Amino acid sequence: TAFHTMNLSRPILKGLASVGFDKPTPIQAKTIPVALEGKDLVGGAVTGSGKTAAFLIPILERLLFRPKRTATTRVAILMPTRELALQCFNVAKKLAAFTDITFGQAIGGLNSREQEKQLKLRPDIVIATPGRFIDLERNSASFVVNTVEILVLDEADRMLEEGFADELNEILGKIPKSRQTMLFSATMTSKVDDLIRVGLQRPVRLMV
Ligand code: AMP
Repeated sequence: TAFHTMNLSRPILKGLASVGFDKPTPIQAKTIPVALEGKDLVGGAVTGSGKTAAFLIPILERLLFRPKRTATTRVAILMPTRELALQCFNVAKKLAAFTDITFGQAIGGLNSREQEKQLKLRPDIVIATPGRFIDLERNSASFVVNTVEILVLDEADRMLEEGFADELNEILGKIPKSRQTMLFSATMTSKVDDLIRVGLQRPVRLMV
């Protein structure tokens, strides 16, 4: 199959073509249809499987499908490290290049003031690491997260290994329960299971 048999809109297909992706990887083929239906999901997938685009494509599609009149932050994507968050940010911008979807960062180790200024504009998608997310959410009125509709916990096992369990639980409590939540993890440890139990509702499990 190819991306253009998956019912994606033109701007997303153009974004995919611009980065040279023409057919989905296995994790993308499984994740995209489930995520487009708005379901919670758990993806067992490692880096290199194409999981970044597996969650970004349905997210962009859902934002386009239900546009908002006023700027609100609608998606939060959490990653364990600055490097991974920046990689995700760069891929996301390319895939969204033919849309007017906006992005912000709440990433540790980068200029916090600059991020605050971006977040104040209510970017559609915020790409974050857990520590900086909490820091900005607690201490800056600029970062409003109660409008978030989709939450991604990427590399959940690594985020827990890095000691972010408390931050993740706090974030799960601050984003509305009505959200769609997608969690990706290379390994399924008991701590990951706990996080799934607390944060996801009847998730579809996709293993590749
Ligand atoms: P990720 O697992 O998301 O880090 O992606 C691993 C690599 O696969 C990255 O270099 C992506 O650019 C590439 N990639 C992801 N999806 C596709 C696709 N559908 N076709 C070709 N390359 C892809």
